[in-house]
Amino acid sequence: MCVASFSELVRLCKLVEATSSRSEKVALIAEFLRRLQPAEAAAAARLMVGEVFPEYSDMALNVGWALLSRVVKGLRARQARLLEASPSILEVCSTLEKVAAASSRRRKEALLTGLFSAMGREEVEYLVRMLSREVRIGAAKGVVLEAVASAAGCSLEEVRRAYMFLSDVGDVAERALRGGREAVRSVTLEIFRPVKPMLAEMCYDIREAIREHGGATAFEWKYDGVRVQVHVKGDKVRVFTRRLSDVTAAMPDVVEAVREVLRAESAVLDGEAIGVVGGKPVPFQHLMRRVRRLEVRRLLRKVPLQLKLFDILYLDGRVLVDEPYSRRWELLEHATGGELLAERIVTGDPREAHEFLRRALEAGHEGLMAKNMASSYEPGSRGRKWLKIKPYDTVDCVIVGAEWGHGRREGWLSDYYLAVRDEATGEYLVVGKTFKGLTDEEFEEMTRRLLELKVGEEGRVVWVRPAIVVEVAYNEIQESPRYKSGMALRFARIVRIRWDKGPEEVTTLQELRRRFEEQFKSKARLHPS
Ligand code: AMP
Repeated sequence: MCVASFSELVRLCKLVEATSSRSEKVALIAEFLRRLQPAEAAAAARLMVGEVFPEYSDMALNVGWALLSRVVKGLRARQARLLEASPSILEVCSTLEKVAAASSRRRKEALLTGLFSAMGREEVEYLVRMLSREVRIGAAKGVVLEAVASAAGCSLEEVRRAYMFLSDVGDVAERALRGGREAVRSVTLEIFRPVKPMLAEMCYDIREAIREHGGATAFEWKYDGVRVQVHVKGDKVRVFTRRLSDVTAAMPDVVEAVREVLRAESAVLDGEAIGVVGGKPVPFQHLMRRVRRLEVRRLLRKVPLQLKLFDILYLDGRVLVDEPYSRRWELLEHATGGELLAERIVTGDPREAHEFLRRALEAGHEGLMAKNMASSYEPGSRGRKWLKIKPYDTVDCVIVGAEWGHGRREGWLSDYYLAVRDEATGEYLVVGKTFKGLTDEEFEEMTRRLLELKVGEEGRVVWVRPAIVVEVAYNEIQESPRYKSGMALRFARIVRIRWDKGPEEVTTLQELRRRFEEQFKSKARLHPS
């Protein structure tokens, strides 16, 4: 049996790091994986992308930078000697499992010190990079998956699909090397193993959604909450988030609701849990983004949750992901007796859809989703089969600064600081930044004009006299400590340049605040306490 040492993995990482060619990286990794036992390949694949445990696992090292650097510093004195045997990849992983399981910092530190002392300087350096998720060898997950495909003789598509079901590069690598193409192709949904949820692309127009989905489509209300995937078998219910963490304990109301309505022995349901306070939905995600994970769990327990189901991926032993959406909806209706379902209509009539959108917004929800009736459920993929339609509003802003662009936008001032006018002081205050919305010709013209208006420079930023006005679309106004204005536009993008307008005509800060308050007319406001 081949027992690959950790130092061999480090040698591979250095080779991968040294080449800038993607195909060469793939070839190097594939060749390496091919030589390993499947279990070793799993561990190596994970470490290469900076993961110690599978993504869905609840295990975590809980080792911060401070502890790591203390361990490394403690080694310095001892480390000059040349080591004969470095630990194997699997030994490294089993020690890391012990580190994760250890409850005291001292125990964690002792285990890591033991592990690092058995390694050379370079191995320590790379392991530290892996543990701090900063591997930086230019081989992100896509490259490693491509290497797995090449090592196992299957297509990248097949490996990607398996990854979306398994959510673990390690597991994909292990199955691929153990059972080859057949094993990769046969990967499918398993109960109590969450899959990455299917995602949607943005669409700005109802007509476009109808056209794109072949003349008629299923519109559902788009709720602003937490995506949940509920797995049920008999009495056992598990709730997973979009990032695959198990939040069952934090959502007793969701568990209860599913138990009550489900008329099946086993099922996997997809939906959104929304917070409802005083009959109005709470804008949950904004809150989630701001608070730390633990606080989220506490909050989830505090706010009553309602479940809105919109898909079913498994029912009584049958995997349904390849069934068309329309069939899945029928099965979902059947399995739940029509309870807890997302509001939905099927139509090809834009007026009917607009009316449906109006009702969704009036009820405090985010907008609509349009779902292609014939589409299968594609875990983890963001495509045009599902389209999200959120209403947007526009404001007029004046550009007060711009940053030099990168990549394709190199040489252009292409990232703009957008400001509104404070009526009280006459000051222009920044409320957002965007590089979206202009054509190449416009970028060019803008760069030329902005340079004429330059009043200062700071690193990559050129500050300008407020003169050029742009109409900016946004999806939402948020409070933001980042800007002096205290407000920020979410998903800002330039709709057009208003050469016809002067800076004194831009939207005022007071107007923006009024619109911000307006947002809460149909939404409940939650003060984190
Ligand atoms: P976004 O987070 O803006 O990309 O929008 C996609 C998210 O909308 C999904 O991940 C769900 O959490 C949420 N969502 C709300 N209502 C629905 C619905 N009816 N169908 C699908 N996703 C929905």
